[in-house]
Amino acid sequence: MKVAFFDRDGTIIDDYPDHKWTNIKRPIFLDGAIRTVKEVLNKGYKIIIVTNQYIINAGYIKEEQYQDITKQMLMELKSNDIDIHDIYYCPHAKTNGCYCIKPRIGMIRQALKEYPDIDLSKSFMVGDSAVDVELAMNMKIKGFGIGIGSEYDDKKIIQIEKIKDLINNL
Ligand SMILES: [Mg+2]
Ligand SMILES: [Zn+2]
Repeated sequence: MKVAFFDRDGTIIDDYPDHKWTNIKRPIFLDGAIRTVKEVLNKGYKIIIVTNQYIINAGYIKEEQYQDITKQMLMELKSNDIDIHDIYYCPHAKTNGCYCIKPRIGMIRQALKEYPDIDLSKSFMVGDSAVDVELAMNMKIKGFGIGIGSEYDDKKIIQIEKIKDLINNL
């Protein structure tokens, strides 16, 4: 199967400065995100979300808060006929040295272990941060940095709606 690996915060739903997450109870979907995810799905990709959540370890949010926001996000996507294949998150501190924090490849490796039929040569990663593009590079898969959050490479910064055009050429 071919997989579109999506970042969560700043890509599908709103992101905030770390300390502001403490008071966030509901996911706010970003413009065009639902439409884009649906189009990617319609092109035959499974969607897997990979998200860094070091704010859990840092104490800005509780694990349950992360789970609750994710659950609400999934319900909203579901009501738009969007099934997310799986979600991986890294709750560890940036300084923990874990293998899963992006741009390290642990979450994608875990996905490959659970879904050995993933065809990486047909898969891609999309996210709003440098770490998302770097993860793609580390996995040697296609990567798209979207929005204004990415400092990695101007040429790779695109609007999320462009994804559907770009994947036509994959
Ligand atoms: Mg992000
Ligand atoms: Zn981790």
